[in-house]
Amino acid sequence: MGRRHDSPFDLPPEETLRFVPGTRLEDLPTRATPGYRGDKRRARDDLAAYGDELSDLQELLFADGRTGGTRSVLLVLQGMDTSGKGGVLRKVVGLVDPQGVDISSFGPPTEEEAAQDFLRRVEQRLPVPGRIGVFDRSHYEDVLVQRVEGLAPPEEIERRYAAIVDFEQRIAESGTTLLKVMLHLGKDEQKERLTERLDRPEKHWKFSPGDLDARARWDDYREAYRIALERTATDEAPWFVVPCDRKWYARLAVAHLLRNALRSLDLTWPRADFDVAAQKARLAAS
Ligand code: AMP
Ligand code: MG
Repeated sequence: MGRRHDSPFDLPPEETLRFVPGTRLEDLPTRATPGYRGDKRRARDDLAAYGDELSDLQELLFADGRTGGTRSVLLVLQGMDTSGKGGVLRKVVGLVDPQGVDISSFGPPTEEEAAQDFLRRVEQRLPVPGRIGVFDRSHYEDVLVQRVEGLAPPEEIERRYAAIVDFEQRIAESGTTLLKVMLHLGKDEQKERLTERLDRPEKHWKFSPGDLDARARWDDYREAYRIALERTATDEAPWFVVPCDRKWYARLAVAHLLRNALRSLDLTWPRADFDVAAQKARLAAS
């Protein structure tokens, strides 16, 4: 294993950012950098250091999967528009070998998907052993946008929370470590980011008028998030609320959490299933 760097945080994100049921999201900061005293520049170096370890750990996971291991990791990313999910994919997930990662983005369900149970389409995208799965939006949209917009009947929305808990429990039991991250964005910061999208023609493709409809229901979304976190934060599948008004902080914190998730698998390099000395001798003689 390459060099181990422990953590540039004074207080561990796995404690400071872990969602504690009963917490109101409006009481959690969006612009602060909990447990981190560095600035943007230092964060860049610190992120690179995580990259070295993440890359080693991902390779270890991959090797384990190739040799009969059952472990995998699933990172679930949720957040309002412009909260920086794409940036986390590029700058954090992008630090490891893309061959070992499966990224799935979930948009509005197709007609076929809508006719099935809401968990069906995510189930099909779960990571197999040895891999890191990333959900860019997820089954949580089925209790977020669907709740706020009334896209499913209230009793169906109600049913979904427990269904999610069961589903995630099964995933965890099958060997997948779940890491659920809500990128917590300030309303003013969102306005700035959307303004930038509208001001720059090369960003127009990222904007959709529907983003403003969601923004108009900011408080309803916050409440939907609160309920979702409250009802689905479990020991097997905890939620982390990551302040993301400073993108560099959010990326560093997610890198740290992902590093921990991979470390917690406690994997070791698979032993050779051949006689190493004999193969060395053969090679030397060739
Ligand atoms: P984006 O992440 O910007 O590509 O947008 C994806 C859009 O798909 C968002 O507006 C989501 O609210 C929407 N979406 C994702 N999953 C669902 C779902 N299960 N039901 C309804 N809308 C969804
Ligand atoms: Mg969008």
